[in-house]
Amino acid sequence: MTKYAIAINTGRCVGCHTCSLACKMSNNIPDGMLWNRVLTEGCDVIDGAQGTYPNLERNYLPLACQHCENAACLRACPTGATYKDEEGRVEIDYDKCIGCRMCMAACPYNARTFNWKEPKRITGADYGHKDVPARKKGVMEKCTLCPERTGEGKEPMCVAVCPAGARVFGDLDDPDSEISKLKRERNVRILLEDMGTKPQVFYFE
Ligand code: SF4
Ligand code: SF4
Ligand code: SF4
Repeated sequence: MTKYAIAINTGRCVGCHTCSLACKMSNNIPDGMLWNRVLTEGCDVIDGAQGTYPNLERNYLPLACQHCENAACLRACPTGATYKDEEGRVEIDYDKCIGCRMCMAACPYNARTFNWKEPKRITGADYGHKDVPARKKGVMEKCTLCPERTGEGKEPMCVAVCPAGARVFGDLDDPDSEISKLKRERNVRILLEDMGTKPQVFYFE
């Protein structure tokens, strides 16, 4: 079996947003939407800081779908549009999605984004992975773990482009994979552990 996961070294992350923009390009994400965001812990503005001047600190937290083992979105979906695939990715069947947004309300990570308008890009430029399916108005979207890339043995786009080497992708069912070793040997944390969603994105420093 295969169980894909991502680990993010927040000590290395420099908040450059390259992962976020490369994800947007590769997956043809329309204007006004992101699947992968780079947050700053303790504040709600981009590149903000926490604390009181002059005692300020800034900690970046890249955030996308956590591909939870016990996914709240999946349990909330009334049509079976949200499913977990055989490699552990949580995916959306856009043809089955009726746009009720139950999954969006259920996700404790605010990882989903809804297509309110006919998806369009202002540039109209033809870029992105050729096999990424087009989405229409009124469906839910989120990080897919790039099955078009990971299905052919490549890393997800966010991992491939990170200039700081802060992101690691791999198979948790392979005990010799880098991500399995990281999970065993480093002090990894998961977000909102109390929710019981069992995220497959791990953070460490
Ligand atoms: S590309 Fe890497 S360093 Fe830049 S924000 Fe994303 S995780 Fe952080
Ligand atoms: S992070 Fe949210 S959208 Fe992703 S699998 Fe978990 S509950 Fe679902
Ligand atoms: S919006 Fe789509 S994916 Fe989300 S719960 Fe409704 S049918 Fe399922």
